[in-house]
Amino acid sequence: MRIENVPVKTQKKPSAGTWLEFWETHAKKTASKCSVIGCESRAEVGAQVFKPSMGPTSIYIVPLCPTHAALVKEPFDVAESVTLVLANK
Ligand SMILES: [Zn+2]
Repeated sequence: MRIENVPVKTQKKPSAGTWLEFWETHAKKTASKCSVIGCESRAEVGAQVFKPSMGPTSIYIVPLCPTHAALVKEPFDVAESVTLVLANK
């Protein structure tokens, strides 16, 4: 599944805690590895992403490593099994 990070200037703050905690609460999972296919780094960031095919109207949270969370204007693929959590829950 192709996703892209939301640019820093349009990122929102979570209403409480961190986006990674928000993701864990709603996905009912514990974040471990980065969601990117083949990346073995720890997921330390609840990244705000969108699907380039859909446009930036729907923002989702996915667990990413700091390297992948820092990619800008560069779409990348996460595993199909990854749970995307809508950020506006
Ligand atoms: Zn990664």
